[in-house]
Amino acid sequence: MSLPQRLSLGVEGRVAVVTGGSSGIGLATARTLLAAGARVAICGRDGARLDAARDELGGVAGPDRVLGERCDVLDEGAVGAFARSVESRFGPAGILVNNAGQGRVSTFADTTDAAWREELELKFFSVIRPTRAFLPQLERAGGGAIVCVNSLLARQPEPHMVATSAARAGILNLVRSLATELAPKGVRVNMVLIGLVESGQWRRRYATQAAPGESWEAWSAALARAKHIPLGRLGRPDEAAHAIAFLSSPLASYTTGSFIDVSGGHSRHV
Ligand code: NDP
Repeated sequence: MSLPQRLSLGVEGRVAVVTGGSSGIGLATARTLLAAGARVAICGRDGARLDAARDELGGVAGPDRVLGERCDVLDEGAVGAFARSVESRFGPAGILVNNAGQGRVSTFADTTDAAWREELELKFFSVIRPTRAFLPQLERAGGGAIVCVNSLLARQPEPHMVATSAARAGILNLVRSLATELAPKGVRVNMVLIGLVESGQWRRRYATQAAPGESWEAWSAALARAKHIPLGRLGRPDEAAHAIAFLSSPLASYTTGSFIDVSGGHSRHV
């Protein structure tokens, strides 16, 4: 018996697509997959943020391994155009990370019908549209993998995020159906369940909620205490990215329809 010289993720040369790859967990996932040898395409809506992320990633990995394209994942035409760009630049995508999105803070009492529709549309169609557009490429690439960035709210709803929690539970269910339907096509479908991970979303909440002069460190540590997170802190984007990269890789070749919890022990489920 011999040990491999160095354990590799096995994604060298693979083409990976990360929606919402211009910030937070998506940007960290793009970095991780590039470090593991993949070529990576990212998308987002804000052109300046996207350009900054593409330049940062291209600066470390080489511009020939990075594609950045403005695309709203809710816009079917834009998602189709993004899929065509990826294939013509790199060849068929073998990895799709459905990450784009954000949570909505609202209780049942203050969620309007319009807000419910908007939230359900964002959560469902941010998975449905890219999955539909990239599926033919994932099949052609062989050993395709989809990873959805979902939330612990799917299993552990919070009343102050009622619409997001319900929509996230729907994604938990959808991933299971997709995994079954796409298995014969050689495509695995999994997800990560994120607890609280430092990102653009939390930085924006800090900017509006922190007391005058309160540092990010003090604010986020107080948040972790208030939420009773056993590991005592928020997660880092790279900690979510590592779980996503594992599920997207051949190291997880016998895992589909499943999830990895990235919540620092915040999940109360056995
Ligand atoms: P960030 O705000 O840091 O990043 C979100 C990314 O998604 C940005 O690149 C943003 O770019 C992009 N995005 C948002 N909406 C769209 C859209 N319609 N089309 C294309 N791109 C879009 O947040 P996070 O890294 O925290 O979030 C990543 C995912 O993780 C989200 O789905 C979020 O709901 C989920 N999550 C995060 C948690 C956390 O604690 N951080 C907890 C649970 C789930 P732009 O705005 O320019 O389009």
